[in-house]
Parts: sequence; C-alpha cells; structure tokens
Amino acid sequence: MSNQEMVEKLRQRGYITSKKIEEAMLSVDRAIFIKNSFPYEDTPYPVGMGQTISAPSVVAFMLEHLDVERGMKVLEIGTGSGYNTVLLSYLVGSGGHVISIEKISELHGIAKKNLAKYNFSQNIELYIGDGSCGYEEQAPYDRIIVTAAMPNLDKIHPFVIQLKEDGKIVAPVGSRLYQDLIVYEKKTNTSRKILPVMFVPLIGKYGFQ
Ligand code: SAH
Repeated sequence: MSNQEMVEKLRQRGYITSKKIEEAMLSVDRAIFIKNSFPYEDTPYPVGMGQTISAPSVVAFMLEHLDVERGMKVLEIGTGSGYNTVLLSYLVGSGGHVISIEKISELHGIAKKNLAKYNFSQNIELYIGDGSCGYEEQAPYDRIIVTAAMPNLDKIHPFVIQLKEDGKIVAPVGSRLYQDLIVYEKKTNTSRKILPVMFVPLIGKYGFQ
C-alpha cells in the first residue's frame, strides 16, 4: 500500500470527506513518522516512550471535525511523532500558526527531526511542557486539538479560556482507558460526542496523575 492508497481508502470509508483534508493527507507521507514496514495500515503504532500515533482514520476524522481554515492559529496538545502537527501546518497555510506542546522531551526531539523534512512546516512552533494547562503565552486560539485522553472539559477549563469566542476544540474526553471524541463549541458551550476512542492519557495538572 502507498500513502495515496491509504488516503483513497479513508475517503471511500467516509473518514475523509473534504478536499482540503484529502490534499493535506496526500501531502504528508505517514511513513516519515513510523519506523516499521506497514506505515499505511489503519492502525495506531508506537512512537516511542510508551506513546502512540493514532490510526489515520482517527486523525482524518478529528481534522474533519476541527474545521481548520487557512490563516488560523491552532494549538495542539501532544506532539508525539509530529504527524498531526504537519497536517495542521499544511491546513493553516503560510499565514497561519500551529503551536504544539509535548510533555516528553525525547518525543519533542523526534518530532522536530520529522518536521524538518517538510518545507511548509515553517509556521510551526514546538514546545516542551505540560500542555494540560494549554499554552497561555500565545492565546487566544481559533482551534485546539488534544491528542491524549483528558478527564473533563468545562467552561472554566484553561483550554476553553484560551479559545476565541467562535473557537472549537476536538478532544478525547473520558476515563483513563475509554473516551469519547468530542467537538466543543465555545459560542454555545456545548460538547457533541462523535466517536468512542482509546487514547493514551494526558498526564498533568488538568489531566490524569
Ligand atoms: N498526535 C501525535 C500522537 C500523540 S500521542 C501524533 O500524531 O503522533 C499523545 C501524546 O501526548 C504523547 O506524545 C504524550 O507524551 C503527550 N502528552 C501526554 N500528556 C501531555 C501533556 N500534559 N502535555 C503535552 N503532551 C502530553
């Protein structure tokens, strides 16, 4: 299978529904981020330090619901391999910004190397730290995407405080083992469940212990 075939399958199965997500996923080769012989399988894989890169269907589904436009400022929590970070970079374009926080410095280093392979990734800033508190320094954000499981999301959560009035958050919210992917809209203060998922836990002040 090739990256192109992976994207075509995701489209046929309904995970990719828009031209922009299709183009982004065609432009970013998943093999760069995965060190095994089957990088295009629709399955999560270890990326080191006990962490995982999500299945491409879940990545596509999250990005479709995040509804990113060119020029936006997006905060990502959990850089991991940097795969999703690069996709976001492509989606916001040269006038946009992607800020991504990773807690584990080894993974931050791996992501940095992976990102260097894409020349459109100049709009990315990577930081090491506890992303469960968001990243106040660059707030407010148009969109926030969380790629580790978080226990709850309410009006007074730092992510919501750091979000613009018409902003959206896509995040796995639930217990340490099982979560629902939710889309949160600040304007209406509502969360909509879109998919049952299993993510690695967000470890930190507003995450798990
Ligand atoms: N989006 C990544 C996958 C991330 S897996 C990819 O495309 O590869 C979840 C990541 O969240 C892990 O790398 C984990 O180390 C990180 N993480 C966990 N708790 C965190 C926290 N409090 N702040 C920032 N990153 C955290």
